[in-house]
Amino acid sequence: MSKSFRSIRGIHDGLTSDVRRWRHIEQTARDVFKCYAFSEVRLPVLEPTALFVRSIGEETDIVSKEMYHFTDQGGDDICLRPEGTAGAVRAYLQAGLTRSGSQRWFYTGPMFRRERPQKGRLRQFQQIGVEWLNVQGPLEDAELLAMAHAFLSELGLPSLRLEINSLGCPVCRPDYRNKLVVYLKSRTDCLCETCNVRIEKNPLRVLDCKNESCQAQLADAPEMASHLCNDCETHFFGLKQALDVLDIPYHVNPRIVRGLDYYNRTAFEIITDQLGAQGTVLAGGRYDGLVGELGGPATPAVGFALGLERIAMLLPETEAELPDIGIVAIGDSVSAYALNVAAELRKAGCSVVHCGGGSAKRQFKMADREHVRFVAVIGEDEMHSNHITLKNMADGNQETLVLNQVITTCLSG
Ligand code: ATP
Ligand code: MG
Repeated sequence: MSKSFRSIRGIHDGLTSDVRRWRHIEQTARDVFKCYAFSEVRLPVLEPTALFVRSIGEETDIVSKEMYHFTDQGGDDICLRPEGTAGAVRAYLQAGLTRSGSQRWFYTGPMFRRERPQKGRLRQFQQIGVEWLNVQGPLEDAELLAMAHAFLSELGLPSLRLEINSLGCPVCRPDYRNKLVVYLKSRTDCLCETCNVRIEKNPLRVLDCKNESCQAQLADAPEMASHLCNDCETHFFGLKQALDVLDIPYHVNPRIVRGLDYYNRTAFEIITDQLGAQGTVLAGGRYDGLVGELGGPATPAVGFALGLERIAMLLPETEAELPDIGIVAIGDSVSAYALNVAAELRKAGCSVVHCGGGSAKRQFKMADREHVRFVAVIGEDEMHSNHITLKNMADGNQETLVLNQVITTCLSG
């Protein structure tokens, strides 16, 4: 016997109890997003590697070490998408939508990053992503956050915290970045190795290092919020004001940065303290430069993504949907008739399992194992009189009914 196969490290199977929760999350998202007039798109899992290098930025963790990419048989460099925004913007440009007003999109699907697997940190994980393209103002940022808030409230998730920040823009950020680099360089001895590499390449990312001793060094670090240009200041003020109007609680956290280069101005995370270091369940922000970066006309946009697995970890188990009816067919002579009864019941919307044939005892045992609510007993008498003996497994009561009555009973409970 060969050694049995295992899934790849950090890549998990979604078994039925997982999928039940995921579907609940997705359905809630669909229902809530519809009220904000967002529509679903389905985007490719495979994209050209260059798309992510260009949009996310070479110095980010994702591009520098986490992408699953390969050269295909035709010599093209192909990547399993590590995130959804770059592909969404590519699709938006490819479809020629830049002059069609604003687009409100959402999508759901797997993303791939070769990270160190931990609880809540997988190598294949699922996101629901939202992109609002061609919108400029802080009111839209607030509305997007209201949508995220409504979605999470609808799921009934406990103790979540919205943290917001402004990342400035190409006018004010360079000056801030320089100040931050000077500050960080004065503390290189006390910062972790990764942060030391980031000082030159991606200094803002040092701000959200998960290492506690690095965080301690950042207490007096200069903050973007006090270096914003007038336009960014006005935008940030407008966002906070709109959140107040919408009665959405938030904290300004100067340490919120995004790991991806294309973000500017508004950045936000929704965080739970129940998942340790993997506590960010939803994150996003404004990316006014990305459409231009990918070759389109300057087009402001804002979006977010949420991790399905992380949110699922916060939800209680949902009960499995059990079959309505088990068919117990007594004797070979009724098997064809019983098959037809099952087909009729299914046509009417009942969920039906056959209890495997053989002795009545064996079939009832199977009905028990399947946790069916009712058993339809079909023997020769039932077949000849065109009736079904329906046993309610909860109380043991039996009734002799015609097919339509069986259907009504099953669908009404
Ligand atoms: P983190 O700081 O946790 O690494 P991130 O900044 O890399 O998150 P984003 O790229 O903004 O995350 O992704 C949005 C959301 O997707 C995250 O808030 C999280 O819920 C989820 N997510 C990201 N990476 C993973 C992963 N490796 N495994 C599971 N979920 C993830
Ligand atoms: Mg990450």
